[in-house]
Amino acid sequence: MIPYGRQSISEADIEAVVEVLRSDFLTQGPVVPHFEQAVADYCGARFGVAVNSGTAALHIACLALGVGPGDWVWTSPISFVASANCALYCGAQVDFVDIESDTGNMCAMELERKLVVAKKEGRLPKVVIPVHFAGLPCDMKEIYRLGQAYGFRIIEDACHALGARYHDEPTGNGRYSDITVFSFHPVKIITTGEGGMAMTNDPALAKTMRLLRSHGITREPADFINEPDGPWYYEQQMLGFNYRMTDIQAALGLSQMANLEGWIAKRSEIAHRYFETLAPERLPRYFSAERRSAFHLYVHHVSPEQRTVTFQRLREKGIGANVHYMPIYKQPWYQKRALMPHPHTEQFYAGAITLPLFPTLNTVQQDLIHAYLISTV
Ligand SMILES: *Cc1c(COP(=O)(O)O)cnc(C)c1O
Repeated sequence: MIPYGRQSISEADIEAVVEVLRSDFLTQGPVVPHFEQAVADYCGARFGVAVNSGTAALHIACLALGVGPGDWVWTSPISFVASANCALYCGAQVDFVDIESDTGNMCAMELERKLVVAKKEGRLPKVVIPVHFAGLPCDMKEIYRLGQAYGFRIIEDACHALGARYHDEPTGNGRYSDITVFSFHPVKIITTGEGGMAMTNDPALAKTMRLLRSHGITREPADFINEPDGPWYYEQQMLGFNYRMTDIQAALGLSQMANLEGWIAKRSEIAHRYFETLAPERLPRYFSAERRSAFHLYVHHVSPEQRTVTFQRLREKGIGANVHYMPIYKQPWYQKRALMPHPHTEQFYAGAITLPLFPTLNTVQQDLIHAYLISTV
């Protein structure tokens, strides 16, 4: 079975991990800050806070921005459930903004329309979490402008989008948001096994997120609230978690960073071939000077009537098709909240099939997928 996504692990990656296994630190040690710095340098952010998943990064990002009971957080319904769960962890309520039907990204016009209504009803969101679906950056200039106008903060869920660019700047530099979150799950752009990172330019947010990832504990004398009663002293200053990344994971991530640009080029080449063959009309949207997608996913669209049968036949041929994503509000846990269905979201989901896309997918495999889809559609 050709999977829909797959990690690439080099001998250098294995060496880097083995080196840590032979060292003194297995949990968070000296390699974690190196990895944080490497990602921060790559995307032009001041700070990176490494944690043990993208989900944990979303959670501490919400907490650092003060999300709590009584607050609303809005995100995109075409995403992994973690984009919404992070708000529920904080006791806040979640609502969804409809997507652009061509990209699957949060629609800035829909966002504005919803904000106008929410303002009248006195329930404006505290935080909005746009998701760079499949790796394509959202319309961040417009979302940022709305944030200024309506007073919400922004967390970019860039779990698909490490290596993406927006107006010729890297996603993660924080020009249009407070915090940007990456995931290093094996299907994502680079991997640490499990892992994630929250990027920010705000030293106070970085400091809070560092506390939250390790129980709310500090060992920094300059930050102590009380007088230390000995050299063993440390303080728990807030209720945090054990969300630490290990040095083993950070070594893998750091080594993977060396291949990032090459992998994006490879993903882009494969995606370009898909578009040319299957959806040439969509090429201009995905290959423009304005945005560079990281091409985490390639989502093919068929008619809703054709979707199940196409999916099953691909699977029978050993092509690991997938679907990204069932709208989050259709999940039983969210259905209880009686959230409204969104027309573009429903339509997008009804015909979406994710085709295999990863740097080592070869042209023979890809031609097989092309030939098969062209013969059935
Ligand atoms: C993968 C993913 C996450 C969660 O990341 P984990 O590292 O698996 O916790 C969050 N949001 C989106 C959009 C994702 O694809």
